[in-house]
Amino acid sequence: MLPNFITPRQLAVLISILAVVALVFTGRWLNATKIGGQGPAEPFRIAGNFYYVGATDAAAFLITGPEGHVVLDAGYPTTARLVMASIAKLGFDIKDVKVLLNSEPHPDHGGGLAALQQASGAELWASDASADSLASGGDDPDAVLPLRVLNWIGVAGSYPPPRVDHRFKDGDTVRVGPIALTAHVTGGHTRGCTSWSFPVRDGDRTLNVVSACDLGVLATSTYPEQAADRERSIRVLRGLPADIWVTCHARWWGRYRKFVASTTAKNPVDPFIDPDGYRAYLDAAEVELREGRTH
Ligand SMILES: [Zn+2]
Repeated sequence: MLPNFITPRQLAVLISILAVVALVFTGRWLNATKIGGQGPAEPFRIAGNFYYVGATDAAAFLITGPEGHVVLDAGYPTTARLVMASIAKLGFDIKDVKVLLNSEPHPDHGGGLAALQQASGAELWASDASADSLASGGDDPDAVLPLRVLNWIGVAGSYPPPRVDHRFKDGDTVRVGPIALTAHVTGGHTRGCTSWSFPVRDGDRTLNVVSACDLGVLATSTYPEQAADRERSIRVLRGLPADIWVTCHARWWGRYRKFVASTTAKNPVDPFIDPDGYRAYLDAAEVELREGRTH
């Protein structure tokens, strides 16, 4: 039944307009999220028990330990098989992965979690806001309506929902045996976007690792407290000591460049030690925030 203040003709016009808006936003969104960056990439040790197991750009990380391993991020639904192949190539068993973590629930980072969970039986931990989005299969409550509709009907942006086993709060630590990762809820890109900090042993030194959130915003996903969240997130990340830093998009932290340099370096870990690059990443995010740019 139509409300009596709208005629069938008006309804048809309204549907046409919504369809056009949806197509425009989908194009922009696909462009922004770059459904590329998932070619196969050589897995490698970054330092100590910390490994890269992601694709060319859609990142995934493995942190190994005697009581089980942790995997951070899973790429797109179709990236999961690459992640599993990389874990096997490094000589580890997917069944020993006990914990899954996520930086943010957009399909390029949360999409493959269900497949990894199914193969490993691992428990997934997420912040409150990310948990809701992950468990819904990628619905972003802050995305523009046409995108949400496309997600609801399974046309774009949706993925097999993983099971969220635990929710953490800002500052909580997730542990597997001696592995301890501290969660920093650094919202902005999405409300529940989570940065992670953890120590890694390399020989006789301990290196501080930070996996920093995406700090940019998509024009298609905004919310009222977003600027304040980004401001705070940049401040929080500036306060974390980072010898080694990474992000969910591998090109931002120079995966390939550092990997190539590590193959000839006297100490293969050294090319990954990059506190200047970390500061530059945060400076660039701050400029983007001040200039009101989206990405
Ligand atoms: Zn995203």
